[in-house]
Amino acid sequence: MIKFLDLQKINAQYADELANVAKKVIDSGWYLQGNYVKEFEKNLSEYIGAKYAISCANGLDALRLILRSYMEMGFMEEGDEVIVPANTYIASVLAISDNRLTPVLVEPSINSYNLDISKIEEHITKRTRAILVVHLYGQVCFSDELKALADNYKLKVIEDNAQAIGARYGDLLSGNLGDAAGFSFYPGKNMGALGDSGAVTTNDKELARIIRSIANYGSEVKYKNEFRGLNSRMDEIQAGFLDIKLKYIDKENEIRRQIAKLYRNNIKNSKIVNPELINKDENSHVWHLYVIRTKHRKSLQQYLKENDVHTIIHYPIPPHKQECYKEYNKLSFHITESLADELLSLPISPVMTEQEVNKVIELVNKF
Ligand SMILES: *Cc1c(COP(=O)(O)O)cnc(C)c1O
Repeated sequence: MIKFLDLQKINAQYADELANVAKKVIDSGWYLQGNYVKEFEKNLSEYIGAKYAISCANGLDALRLILRSYMEMGFMEEGDEVIVPANTYIASVLAISDNRLTPVLVEPSINSYNLDISKIEEHITKRTRAILVVHLYGQVCFSDELKALADNYKLKVIEDNAQAIGARYGDLLSGNLGDAAGFSFYPGKNMGALGDSGAVTTNDKELARIIRSIANYGSEVKYKNEFRGLNSRMDEIQAGFLDIKLKYIDKENEIRRQIAKLYRNNIKNSKIVNPELINKDENSHVWHLYVIRTKHRKSLQQYLKENDVHTIIHYPIPPHKQECYKEYNKLSFHITESLADELLSLPISPVMTEQEVNKVIELVNKF
């Protein structure tokens, strides 16, 4: 059986190191807001190249905290608009609506699946305050045109970097391209904790201060509350685990790239379209997912299953078709909807063997 993602095997690679740090945290008697979190934040900000990294409870909170802090800073208010890709994982959209801001959905490119930057400007209104780009499936969604557009209209660029830690745009890493970025360390992400956690990176000192405060009940000094905050913090034990994972992320992303290269070079079937690298730069993609497109998805998925290959659909129902967004249900986004009908994610992970990759290629070509 070729699993879609073997988390047990991924973490088994580092079992001794993980157990060692777990023991240290257990024995320390200190489980929140301690040295492990401080050290991980320092190492994450250095890795990304951003001045500040603020840890929090999960990736959704990271995005919620960024938007909430911009509201506290007076940069945006309830009802203001945030541009977001229509085909993203729903958390990107939830972070916007949770702050009573208005998500403005924009279509992706059918070949790269990333937000079509050329379609943003026609959606900008007097109330637009930010563009939330999503580096979907691990591929950077950014361009000099995007930056110029945001500067021109005085919009914040917020990166949803949940799927793309380690990806590059030229010399810069994702998470350091816009004004602020949200990260997820959900176990299945490229850099997974052993539970939930997340982080924000930014070069904006005041934004960093407010995010840190809001994530801690809105308080910088104990029992003094400047904001009506949340409790969204990273556990010491997860920070200890993530510091270990951070040492290996480049190596693991490189293995994903090798697998993606094998898939891209060798999957040749007229019924299947391979994903597109937007600017031909291998480093701009960390292949959180390898997502193909086919009009024969149901039968392909069934055929692979019968041959012991597990695949998943990311994502079968786009946000505007969800029950929780009834007000958007009547809207139509043709590209997003056809992607939802045609996409299929093949297994990819740093512990997949070349033999397994070749078996998937062989089956997909035979289909
Ligand atoms: C995983 C994910 C999130 C949310 O992260 P959690 O840690 O699960 O809350 C947000 N956006 C995208 C694109 C994601 O893939």
